[in-house]
Order: sequence, then structure tokens, then C-alpha cells
Amino acid sequence: MAELEGLEFGKSDFVLLDEVTMEQFMENLKLRFEKARIYTFIGEVVVSVNPYRHLDIYGKEVIEDYRGRELYENPPHLYAVADAAYKAMKRRAKDTCIVISGESGAGKTEASKYIMQYIAAITNPSQRAEVESVKNVLLKSNCVLEAFGNAKTNRNDNSSRFGKYMDINFNFNGDPTGGHINNYLLEKVRPSVFSLFSLSLCHSKSSSQASNNDSLCHKAVMAALKVIGFTTEEISSIYKILSTILHLGNLQFTSDGEHVVLVGEDTVKHISELTSTEPENTRKALLYRTVATGGGEVIEKGHSEQEASYGRDAFAKALYERLFAWIVGRINSVIQVMDYNPALHGKNTVIGVLDIYGFEIFDNNSFEQFCINYCNEKLQQLFIELILRQEQDEYQREGITWQNIEYFNNQIIVDLVEQPHKGIISVLDEACLTAGKVTDTVCLDSMNKKLGQHPHYTSRKLCPADKTMDFNRDFRIRHYAGDVTYSVEGFLDKNKDPLFQDFKRLMYNSSDPVLKEMWPDGKMSITEVTKRPLTAATLFKNSIIALVDKLACKEPYYVRCIKPNEVKSPLLFDDGRCQHQVAYLGLLENVHVRRAGFAYRQPYARFLQRYKMTCEYTWPNHLMSSDQEAVEAIVNQHGFEDDVAYGHTKLFVRTPRTLFTLEQERAALI
Ligand code: ADP
Ligand code: MG
Repeated sequence: MAELEGLEFGKSDFVLLDEVTMEQFMENLKLRFEKARIYTFIGEVVVSVNPYRHLDIYGKEVIEDYRGRELYENPPHLYAVADAAYKAMKRRAKDTCIVISGESGAGKTEASKYIMQYIAAITNPSQRAEVESVKNVLLKSNCVLEAFGNAKTNRNDNSSRFGKYMDINFNFNGDPTGGHINNYLLEKVRPSVFSLFSLSLCHSKSSSQASNNDSLCHKAVMAALKVIGFTTEEISSIYKILSTILHLGNLQFTSDGEHVVLVGEDTVKHISELTSTEPENTRKALLYRTVATGGGEVIEKGHSEQEASYGRDAFAKALYERLFAWIVGRINSVIQVMDYNPALHGKNTVIGVLDIYGFEIFDNNSFEQFCINYCNEKLQQLFIELILRQEQDEYQREGITWQNIEYFNNQIIVDLVEQPHKGIISVLDEACLTAGKVTDTVCLDSMNKKLGQHPHYTSRKLCPADKTMDFNRDFRIRHYAGDVTYSVEGFLDKNKDPLFQDFKRLMYNSSDPVLKEMWPDGKMSITEVTKRPLTAATLFKNSIIALVDKLACKEPYYVRCIKPNEVKSPLLFDDGRCQHQVAYLGLLENVHVRRAGFAYRQPYARFLQRYKMTCEYTWPNHLMSSDQEAVEAIVNQHGFEDDVAYGHTKLFVRTPRTLFTLEQERAALI
């Protein structure tokens, strides 16, 4: 239990609520936010509310306060979780992970930065140069990924449009030796033209147009790129690609009555210069596509105006996506742990940090929300499973009888989305593979047919009375977090790989080695390209399944982020919005699980050290034959016998109030 801060700041752990109700939960959350206590525990989980202002709670002295301490010894903080994960890794050689979730703007990325900073601050006390350099690259990589992966959206000035998972590897000393980054679903649907614009604007000579802030940011990005080890040539290629994407945005098509033609050949010239390709080839790729006829003949087919624009947009998005993936790959190659020999260096352990968008429920929910929400179903499932399993394992280890805990198993919703041959993704893929004109509406029909019986799926056709859905457009999933209505409009397009092979070939034939490296699949000739690339939904599904597998074998720690309001105000606590988030983060359920068995457990020695002054038989030292016996003496003196169980190494306490009372008594004595 967190140190008593005084009740004027509310309860530092939600398990201490008198009753686990939404009302009490919200009251406590709000009170703490208003008192600038933005962190609150649920057992070992940290709930965080974005303060939208600078708080002086991250400095060196604070780091020292948390270093090596137990969770309950200090007020709730990200550092407490970071330290717990680090300790488990170092003392017990456990792989651990810290899962940070919440909606856009809730403070996930900031939290992940503070956690990384904490780990950087407490490791490598001897300042060994090679460790310092690894730490430096790990910290700098954040800045680069933010610069290239973020978009200014109306919900968040600096919204990460991707999920990021970073493994940090440690040697037996507990010092970082390297790492690996995975990114998930960079939202290419609206490539962040804004940030691309400011990045490349700063790079071009006419940087007078860029705002001060932009050029500062640009300097930091350049410095970070250099620290990571990008060469001058590579950096130059990166900026050329960014410029290309911007130029593509200016490219227009029109028709001369017979053929589609380009408006402004100059733009094409720029593009071919920037991409080191032949202008004639660039022009061709924009206006034609190569197709293989049934007889194996290869012909060039002119685009319609619409096809040309569609191709151009797909090209710009693919350039952006591949650039990002390439940058991540380059960073990974630099931080990769080389030549690690466990026999020589001891066990190599890992702390994973996952920064990923939480549940999204908008007025209009599309393919992106569908993917994000599916991902959150998977993470929720893992969360419940791991917390329960962790509890069960610990009870078993300590020889304490396990009691069943009731909870909602969301496997059924996960199946609805991902089950082979039956799930929504599979129906979508099938529609995408069908030749001819399958529309989004046709796809909705086949979903209705296949999934109409599913208790978590509905649509207007299945439920005609429900006027909140559109007949030809909407379907609804009953998620664990609530109902979400999705519009199928654009689902098929977003799920397909929309890029014509001609662009891939064009890029592969570029004389810019960096660009060429990003397009290995451009090597194939048109007659070889028969196998369909995997769809976006399937790729996403595979990456999320792989992610869950990675997380499942680690000891998890959680940070749940809440956005207090929509206007970035440090003063406003929007009750409705917050309650909504508390609900879909499953926080009440979390408190229930935590309180269902034994809310607290502490090693005997620790318990004794903390509370020995509250009992005459143990203060200042006990004369009993074991710490357990001494702890029994404390428990008996306070009359808590019925509320505890004695494990092999730990005392288990059922109700939080018991420990709370002890804390109060202790506080009165010191
Ligand atoms: P997310 O990654 O969840 O979308 P961010 O971490 O980017 O959200 O946070 C959005 C903004 O909120 C930040 O740019 C910052 O201004 C503010 N913010 C978030 N966390 C904190 C914090 N702990 N202290 C101060 N400001 C914060
Ligand atoms: Mg973010």
C-alpha cells in the first residue's frame, strides 16, 4: 500500500475504496486529479490522469526516492512501476513488460518516456561507455519515431498514429545492452502531411517559412538521427522521400478527351530527380499499369482519371509507410544485441515497454477503429489472464488455497473478429479476394449472413427496429468495453494492398540505394506477381498475435492512462468522458479481481520491518524463532487473525482496511 499521503488527497489505492462502485471510483479519481495527484494504484497497476501541465515530480531526487523501494513504500508513480519491473528483472531474472494503454492524448507516450528515463537513470552506475551509448540510442530513437510517426490531429497535437513495442535487453549486471522496436499499424490512411511538411520545410533552404518550434524540433531530429548512426547519405535520402510525398500531393491529372494526362510536367521532373528515377518511367508509372493477359502477353493499360489519382495516393502512402518501417529497421540494426553468449555473460533479460492506443469509440468508426479495438480486446484478454494466473501461481507457490474469481471472458469477441474461416477478418479477406466488383455493402451482407447468430454481432438488417444504424452501411460489435458501431464504407479498400506493381518496380530501379532497399518486392516481373499479398487486416492480426505471444511469457506491469478532458485543460475534469474511459479500461473489474482474494501480500521480513513498532513483542527487536512468528504476534495483537493467511514466505491480507489501519497506527508513531 502506498504511503499515507493524508486523506485530503483521496485514496492512493483504489482497493481502499469503502465500496467498489463507479461513483466512489470517480470521486476518488477526480479528487486526486484536482489535488495534482495524477497517479493512483490498483494494487500494482498505476492509473494516470493527464495533468496537461508540467508537474515537478520527475526530477533526480524523486528518482532516488523510488530507486530499489517496494511499491507500497512511496506514493503512486510511474517510477514505482518502472522500479518494480526492473527489480523483478534484476533480482529474479524475470522478463517483464510494462503495458501502457489509454486513448489518444491520454499521456501514454509521455509515460513511456518517463519510464525509459527512469531506467536510464538507475542503470550503469559505473558509466561504462558502451552501455551509455546504448542508452543514448534507445532514448534518442523515441524522438525520431515521434517525428516521423506522429500526426497533428485535432485530439492531440502530437498523436502517435502507431503502436510501439520496445524491448530493452539487459545483461546480468542489470545494464542495458540493446533493444528492439516493433511498430504496429502506422495509420497511412492520413499520412501525417502536416509533420512531413514541417520536417521537410525545415530541411529545405527556405526555412524562414518554418516556425521556430518546427526548426527546433528539426534540429533535435537531425541530432538524434546522427546519434543513432544514420549516414549523411541516408539522411539526405530520407528528406528526398519526404519531399517526394509532398510533391505527389500536388500532382493533378486531367483528361484530353481521350487519355489521362498530367497537369504540370515539372512536378514529375522533381519527383524523378528526388527518387533518382528516369522521368519517362515515372510518368509511365503514374499513367499506366502493366497487366498480364491470359495468354501471358504483357500490355500497358492506361489509367482512368480516377485510377490515376487512386494510384498516386496509394504510392504516397506506401512511400511513407516504407520509409517509416525502414527507419525502425535501421534503428533496430544499431541496437541489436550482438554476440551475446549466456554461458559467458549470464542470462540476458528483457523489459518490454508497450505504448499502444486504447479503445476508440468515435461518432464514425471505420477500419482503423476496428483494428485498434480488436487489439484492445486481445490485450484485455491477456490482462485478465495474466493477472489471474499471476494470482494463482503465487497462491500455489505460497501454499494458500485458491478461490475462484468471477470475471468476463472476452474470448468470444476475439473469436468473432479473428477466427479462421468464420471471423470478420476472414469474411473481409474473402471479399477482397473475390474478382469483380465486390462493394462494401456486399461485404456487409456476407458478414450478416455468416455472423448473424453471434451474440456480440448485430446490424440493421438483423435488427430492423434499431434506427441508430444505417441499413447498408453499419454493423455493431458488442465489445467488452461497450457497443461500437462501425461503418463498412472504405473497409475493402483499406484492407487491400492498393499499390500497382509498376510503382514498386519504379522504386526498385531507383539509383538511390536507400530507396531501392525499401522496395525489394519491386524486383518481381509482372508475370511473377501472382500471389496476393496479405491484406492489411490479416497483417495486423498476425502482428498482434505475435505481440500477445511475446507479452504472455513476461511478468506484466500496467499503466492505464486517462484523458481528463477534450480541450487539453489542466483544470477540467470532464466526468462523463472520464467515466467512459474508466469503464472501457475495465478498471472497476480490476479492483474487484484485486480485492477478491487477498488484496495484499508482503514478505515476512518486510512486513516486520515496517510494522514492528506497532507491537510490544517486536519492538525494537523480536526474540522469536522466525520472522513469521513475529508477524503472527503483530497480527494477533491487532486482532486481524481472521483476515490473513500465512504463506511460506509471505503474509497474505484479505481486506485493504487491515493494512490501512496498520499504516495509520504506524504513521501516528513516527
Ligand atoms: P498519447 O501518447 O496517449 O496520445 P501523449 O503522451 O502524447 O498522449 O500526451 C499528450 C500531451 O499531453 C503531451 O504532449 C503533453 O502535453 C501532455 N501530457 C501527457 N502526459 C503528461 C505529464 N505526465 N505531464 C505533463 N503533461 C503531460
Ligand atoms: Mg502517443
